[in-house]
Order: sequence, then structure tokens, then C-alpha cells
Amino acid sequence: MLEIRGLTVRYGSADVLSNVDLTIGTGEVVTLLGSNGAGKTTLFCVLSGLVRPSSGTVTFMGEDLARMRAGRIVERGIAQCPEGRKLFAQLSVEKNLMLGGYVHRGDRRAMKQSFESIIALFPALEAKLGAPAGSLSGGQQQMVAIGRALMARPKLLLLDEPSLGLAPLVLQQTLDAVAAINRTGTMVLLAEQNAYAALAIAHRGYVISDGRIVLEGTAADLRENDDVRRAFIGA
Ligand code: ATP
Repeated sequence: MLEIRGLTVRYGSADVLSNVDLTIGTGEVVTLLGSNGAGKTTLFCVLSGLVRPSSGTVTFMGEDLARMRAGRIVERGIAQCPEGRKLFAQLSVEKNLMLGGYVHRGDRRAMKQSFESIIALFPALEAKLGAPAGSLSGGQQQMVAIGRALMARPKLLLLDEPSLGLAPLVLQQTLDAVAAINRTGTMVLLAEQNAYAALAIAHRGYVISDGRIVLEGTAADLRENDDVRRAFIGA
């Protein structure tokens, strides 16, 4: 469904992504493991049309994304939930969610369906719909950020470090929600530093270091891999 080949991104004279190959198949959760500055967010921003490749190809369901504008990419079925959530803190939870459904603004039925499915997934948000998003706990804000991306009804959800700053129990609840989203057929690309938890819900994974893919495999293989254990899990 998604195929990235030979992707290189340069900021000035520095290669931030070098010759990256990555695929996502129907129904998959794929995790991208890497430390700070490895290039995960840059890869996501390429997929969202916010950063342009210097070379390489990116296709989604047969269409070239590399030159597609960001709004069109959302229409085609890719939505990004950014690192740090990036909510509109002063706006209500409900308005934050509705903004995510902007591409479907002409289809009130679709908007209502999406909204109801997000509340079913995150029931804790129901009592908070009128509250400013910035007043919620970290875990609830993460729910809003994921819900906002889901309002676009994506086929592929890009989740950039959803566990950042969350307590372990809340992290687990967040990743359980991601697994539930995947069970409805949505593909997920999940960037995480919390490798053990991410690999538990992923089908496959890639390890990125200094902008290069240095390892790939099934989630089970990566969990057993000595280098992954040393770098991310603790041997
Ligand atoms: P983090 O988890 O810390 O966000 P990351 O794996 O998502 O890490 P990126 O944010 O993609 O990594 O950054 C990759 C590299 O590119 C880093 O060295 C970063 O400093 C650099 N970088 C990111 N954005 C820019 C930019 N706009 N201009 C120049 N360099 C940048």
C-alpha cells in the first residue's frame, strides 16, 4: 500500500534521511524505532507532504506522494498525529476533533459517524468535549490528538511518538487504542522510542539511525534481536 524507495532528504548540506526503503502492507502496524534526531519526524513529514524528498520515490496505493500537496494527501487517506500532540490548547476538545475532519466538512453523516466512533474508542473524552484541550491530562490530550487524526478517516495513520511524556499505564492504554484502531482495518506507522511496547502491537518494524534504516524485520524478530534489546529495551 505504501512504498518508499531510496528516499533521501537534505536540510541544507546535511542528509537527514539517506536512501530509506520502507513498505506498509494492507492491515499492518509498522513501527519505526529510533533515538532522538534519527529522522523519524522527517520521514512522517515527507509522507504528509510537509517536507519534499531530495531524491527517491514515495507511492501510496499506486499514487506518487512526493509532489502531492498536503491537503490532497489527507484526502487520499493519510493523516498524521504529530509528536507533542500540537493541539489547539484554547479550543475545546470538540473543536479540536472537528478540525481533523475538515476534509469531510461537506459530509455531515461521515463527520458524525467518525465523531461517535472516536468517543466510543475514548469514552473519557465525552465528559470533556466542552473543556479547553489544554486543560486535559497528558493521556487525554493524546486521545484528542489521535482522535483528531482519525476524524480524517485515514487508511494510514502516522503516529509520531504517542507515548512521549506519558506514565507507563497511560502509555499502555494509548497503544491498546492503537491496536484497536488497527483492528478496524487502518494501517499504522508508529514512531516510538519505547520499543518493547511498540513491538508488542506491531506486525513489523524498522530501526532508523542517523537517517538510515539499519535493521528491519517482524516484530517478533526485532524483540529478540540483541542490538535492539541493547539499544532500546535494556539487555
Ligand atoms: P525526535 O524524536 O527528536 O524528533 P526524529 O527521529 O523525529 O527525532 P527528526 O526530527 O526527523 O528526528 O530530525 C532528524 C535530524 O534533522 C536532526 O538532526 C534534526 O536536528 C534535523 N532537522 C530537523 N528539522 C530540521 C530543519 N527544519 N532544518 C535543519 N535540520 C533539521
